Amino acid sequence: MLSVIIPAYNEEQNISLAAKTLSELLKNEKIPYEIIFVDDGSRDKTYLEICKASQADENVKGVSFSRNFGKESAIFAGLEEADGDCAVVFDCDLQFPPVKIVEMYRLWEKGFEVVEGIKSDRGGGSAMYNMFAKSFYKIISRFVGVDMQSTSDFKLVDRKVIDALISLPERNTFFRALSFWSGFNSTQIEFKVEKRANGRSKWNLTKLTKYAVSNITSFTTAPLQAVTVIGAILLCFMAILAVQTLVRYLCGSSAEGFTTVILLLLLIGGSLMMALGVIGYYIARIYEEVKGRPRYIVSKRIGKSDKK
Ligand code: UDP
Ligand code: MG
Repeated sequence: MLSVIIPAYNEEQNISLAAKTLSELLKNEKIPYEIIFVDDGSRDKTYLEICKASQADENVKGVSFSRNFGKESAIFAGLEEADGDCAVVFDCDLQFPPVKIVEMYRLWEKGFEVVEGIKSDRGGGSAMYNMFAKSFYKIISRFVGVDMQSTSDFKLVDRKVIDALISLPERNTFFRALSFWSGFNSTQIEFKVEKRANGRSKWNLTKLTKYAVSNITSFTTAPLQAVTVIGAILLCFMAILAVQTLVRYLCGSSAEGFTTVILLLLLIGGSLMMALGVIGYYIARIYEEVKGRPRYIVSKRIGKSDKK
C-alpha cells in the first residue's frame, strides 16, 4: 500500500480538492493507497474538511496537532502514522504534479527505496527569495555531499527508510536532507512546480530565515568551525599589526593610533559577540534536544488505522 502524507496548515480550500484528485488518480491506476492529512494546528476549518474527506473516502485519515509545530513535524507525524509499504510526501496546495506519484510508485515497484522529486525550475518567487534559497541550499549541499539545489519534500520512501527515519532520536529533523543522509538505493525524477491551487504560501521571510538557520544548525556544525577560522585570521592580522606598531615605536615614529584603537576594539568586540552568539545557538539546540520533548502533540485523529 502507498501512504500519501499531506501536511496542511490553514488549507481549508485545498483539502477536498487534494483528496479527490489523489483518490481518483490512484484508483484509476489501481494502486492501493491511504491518504494521511496532518493538520498542523490550523486556525481555519482544515480539520473539519479532513473529517468530511475521511467520511467520503475510507482511505483518508487525519491527525490534528494541538498547535502549529511546523511542516517538518507534520511530515514526521505522517511517517509515523503511515501503514503503507512506502510513503510519499505531498503538498496540500497541489504544487507537485499528482501524476508524478504514479511514476514514483512504479519506480519503487522496480526496487528503488527512495525516489526523489527534483524541481526542474523553481515555481516563481521573488529575486530576493530565490537568492536566499540558493545560498541556503549551497550550504546544506556541501555538508550532505549531495546537490540539494533543486530538491523538494516531494519524495517517495520505502518502509525501510520510514522506519529508519522515525527511529532517529533527534527532535529537529530535516526530511529533505535526511533521506539523502540515510543512503538507501535512490533515484530521481524531475517535476515542474505548479502554481498554488488556493490560498497563499504559508512562508514569510522571518519564518524562512528561522527554517534555514534551524536546518543548517541541525545538520552541520560548520558555523562553529567558522568561528575558529575567523579567530585565526584575526589573530594573524593582529600579529602583523603588533610587529608593525612595535617597529614604528622603536624607530620613534609611533602612530597616532586613536582611530586604529577604536577600530580594532570594534572589530574584536564584534567578532567575539558573533562567535558567542553562534556558540550560544548550538547550546540552545543541545538544550532543546536534551529536554527530549516530543516533535508534536496530536489532539485529534480520524479514520481507521491498523496500529492504533
Ligand atoms: N505547511 C505546514 N505547516 C506550516 C507551513 C506549511 O504543514 O507551518 C504545509 C502547507 O499546508 C503545505 C506545505 O506545507 O501543504 C507547503 O507549504 P506552502 O505551500 O505554504 O509552501 P511553499 O510551497 O510556498 O514552499
Ligand atoms: Mg506550496
